[in-house]
Amino acid sequence: MALADDDAVILAGGQSLVPMLNFRLFTPTRLVDITRIADLDYIKDWNGGLRIGALTRHHTLETSSLVKERFPVLRAAMPLVAHLAIRNRGTIGGSLCHADPAAELPGLALLLEAELQTTKRTIAAADFYEGTLTSVLEQGEILTEIRLPALPVGTGWAFEEFSRRSGDFALAGVGVLVGSETRITAIGADETPIRLKRTEALCTDLSNMDAIVQSAREEVSPNSDLHGSADYRRHLIGVLTKRALTEASERAE
Ligand SMILES: Cc1cc2nc3c(=O)[nH]c(=O)nc-3n(C[C@H](O)[C@H](O)[C@H](O)COP(=O)(O)OP(=O)(O)OC[C@H]3O[C@@H](n4cnc5c(N)ncnc54)[C@H](O)[C@@H]3O)c2cc1C
Repeated sequence: MALADDDAVILAGGQSLVPMLNFRLFTPTRLVDITRIADLDYIKDWNGGLRIGALTRHHTLETSSLVKERFPVLRAAMPLVAHLAIRNRGTIGGSLCHADPAAELPGLALLLEAELQTTKRTIAAADFYEGTLTSVLEQGEILTEIRLPALPVGTGWAFEEFSRRSGDFALAGVGVLVGSETRITAIGADETPIRLKRTEALCTDLSNMDAIVQSAREEVSPNSDLHGSADYRRHLIGVLTKRALTEASERAE
């Protein structure tokens, strides 16, 4: 199933789409408002993990006891997404589909190895992003559900980011899980959110922190813009990786 009209565009929370329309960056012929599909707004158990409907709002994730208990890293990152007024409207599906490389939820989807269910297929979060503001979604394909597999008991976690002001998009951010394996994702560090796989492989020995930090800096390819240079962002990724790894290891049991 997909939208029948090839020119139609989905409107969810509108917190990214409406600004783009206002700036005439995008001129679709038709908008399809899906926000009243109550069946796409839920957080449910999934074998100890969670199934989350695509229309679940950021603030619902932030205040959910299930999210807090099973994915504290997601809970910890949600207040860093924009401002409360935006979190009251923005949806998890909208954020994932908008594919902003500096957004927290796409980075968390990679970190938590999410499965993304669309009206046509299941896509691993690792295969979802193609470039800045570009995903593999086809015209008219709708993201319906996000599934987060359960994490092993005792997994340590941390999410660290740096932004110029509270509520701004992060200049760079890093999410970490430490347990039977170490996972590291970075945002604001490349054309898409990325897993730092080479750096993860060095994390069997955290006394090696200088090499880990160096590797994280080498593994990313950030852009320069008005807010910060590529070198500065690369530096931040190193600092945030060290901070997040240290915190996550302290939390791991
Ligand atoms: C001032 C400001 C600051 C912000 N700061 C941050 C921040 O710090 N971090 C952050 O992560 N975000 C930030 N945002 C973005 C915010 O989180 C948005 O809510 C989010 O990116 C988009 O979600 P939405 O539900 O509003 O989607 P919409 O704006 O409605 O849609 C975004 C895009 O996704 C598509 N889409 C939406 N839902 C679906 C679906 N189910 N299936 C297929 N396609 C779909 C739409 O067609 C559109 O192309 C900020 C926004 C503003 C205005």
